[in-house]
Amino acid sequence: MRCLFGHKWNGCKCEKCGKTRDKQHDWEGCICKKCGKPRNEQHDWDDCICKKCGKKSRSESPHDWAYIKTESYSRDERQEYSGQFYDVTVTYTETYYRCQKCGMEKKDWESEISGGMGYQSGSLML
Ligand SMILES: [Zn+2]
Ligand SMILES: [Zn+2]
Ligand SMILES: [Zn+2]
Ligand SMILES: [Zn+2]
Repeated sequence: MRCLFGHKWNGCKCEKCGKTRDKQHDWEGCICKKCGKPRNEQHDWDDCICKKCGKKSRSESPHDWAYIKTESYSRDERQEYSGQFYDVTVTYTETYYRCQKCGMEKKDWESEISGGMGYQSGSLML
């Protein structure tokens, strides 16, 4: 209990006991130079991984995607179109990818409603 009468804060760290607080960090990019705390700003990206803190990018573009597999299945659904319900068959196609650099996975998906009534696609980080 060296700091019984109050810490001697130097930014986020007490000079006497080494205790840290979540205030006045000394940021260098995404890492505090004093206490090592990471923040989600100013990362030093090397493609999809931050060189400083090791964080993986959640955006799709910087990854080195490698194809894993495609899965396809159909489901009967009841969907509403302008107030009316229709029984339709929706075919889903999901293609999985894994980043060769950081191991993050994503899937691209498509859904197609039988009879050409609708088509959707998207991409999802897993
Ligand atoms: Zn202290
Ligand atoms: Zn700090
Ligand atoms: Zn970082
Ligand atoms: Zn990656």
